[in-house]
Amino acid sequence: METETPPVLVSPPIPVVDIQCLSVWYGRQLAVKNLSLTIPRGEIFGFIGPNGAGKTTTIKVLATLLKPSMGAVHVLGTNVAHSPQEVRRNIGYVPDSFGVYEDLSVVEYLNFFAAAYRIEWDKRAGTVKDVLALTDLSEKAEAQVDALSRGMKQRLGIARVLLHDPQLLLLDEPASGLDPRARIELRELLKELQRMGKTILVSSHILHELSQFCTRIGIIEAGELVAEGSLMDIYRKLDLKRTVHVQISNLAPPLVEAIRRQRAITSVEELADRLAIQVREDELSMEDLLEALHGLGARIRMFQPEAMDMETAFMKLTEGKVS
Ligand code: ATP
Repeated sequence: METETPPVLVSPPIPVVDIQCLSVWYGRQLAVKNLSLTIPRGEIFGFIGPNGAGKTTTIKVLATLLKPSMGAVHVLGTNVAHSPQEVRRNIGYVPDSFGVYEDLSVVEYLNFFAAAYRIEWDKRAGTVKDVLALTDLSEKAEAQVDALSRGMKQRLGIARVLLHDPQLLLLDEPASGLDPRARIELRELLKELQRMGKTILVSSHILHELSQFCTRIGIIEAGELVAEGSLMDIYRKLDLKRTVHVQISNLAPPLVEAIRRQRAITSVEELADRLAIQVREDELSMEDLLEALHGLGARIRMFQPEAMDMETAFMKLTEGKVS
């Protein structure tokens, strides 16, 4: 006799962040308008928008510091307005400004927060040691907090919120004011945290700052989410092109023509000392363009892609080229 195997019901995994129709008013001012957004586990989500767009407000709602005026917001299935304590156990929030603790050493500072997070006494030293190693601050354990560079302070801010091993990290403008080296260190730290299984929401007002390592991007303007998806989805949606400045020592008209004929190159402008090449980056990466130019026999003295900035993205959005 044949027996029928019962169907296995697999429910889809709960997103780490689930924001449905969120609106936030400050008195008469509407700061976030009907915003919906989900972030699955393991993503590094870049939340991008100019000053005053509503990034901090949205992050504060996720961090249970502000109540939604309307809409439902869940972190790992828990409603932020109904069960803020439970949500707090699962999140690590690093605000955009760092508090001043000039009289404490790094290790004292972390021990203080380990106690505040109620980490058991006998586990504190080990936990503090682990987060110091992870954020590459072990050598600074005895340094005064106030004497740290801005980049180190930023990493200490992250170390602090890692003490209770949260699943979701909320980082508000962590890269602002950092020098290029500190930015790279921050980027590497975020990638490492992602490898550890954390989900990360990181905000910035510069698209380029996050584009290299975010798995998804959401663009917010005047309280509304105007575009969302992978960086390539957004480039495609906005029909963005990247300009690359190239100096070629053996430049000759046939070479310029050959470059013009390359796939995904939309224009080649001949300037006095270089070419300005416009590329549809979703079709041709910078690495592939460089390789293609070498393939055409170009001897390249300079290859400089322009940063893709918010301004360009928003100009595109306001030109009405997007539905
Ligand atoms: P920034 O990068 O400048 O921090 P943001 O994208 O984080 O910008 P929000 O700080 O969320 O933006 O601000 C969204 C809007 O709400 C702005 O118009 C801001 O002036 C307003 N706003 C923020 N906080 C308050 C507050 N406490 N009271 C009144 N209005 C506020």
